[in-house]
Amino acid sequence: MYKPTKICIAGIRFKIEYCDMDGLLGLFLPGDNIIKICNGLSDEERFSTLMHECIHAIFDITGNAYSINDSAKEESIVRALENLFFAVFIKEYEKTRTTKT
Ligand SMILES: [Zn+2]
Repeated sequence: MYKPTKICIAGIRFKIEYCDMDGLLGLFLPGDNIIKICNGLSDEERFSTLMHECIHAIFDITGNAYSINDSAKEESIVRALENLFFAVFIKEYEKTRTTKT
């Protein structure tokens, strides 16, 4: 089962908490360095939700969340990265791992 309890991003340690959440799959709490993930997700859902919240954390660390200053716009960018870029990244990364020179 994939269920990490901490993750390090740019040298910053984030605690991952699992809890029942009312309609949310995940939540990033800036300032507290906590990522909350909903109980009851499959490994794949847990992974994609954690990666989604990590993008929010990265936006917070880099100041992009402050620059965007609009939660709907930030969510749109995060979902584009999560749903589109990550899929390409994982596929291409796997090719680099399996391609022989
Ligand atoms: Zn989000």
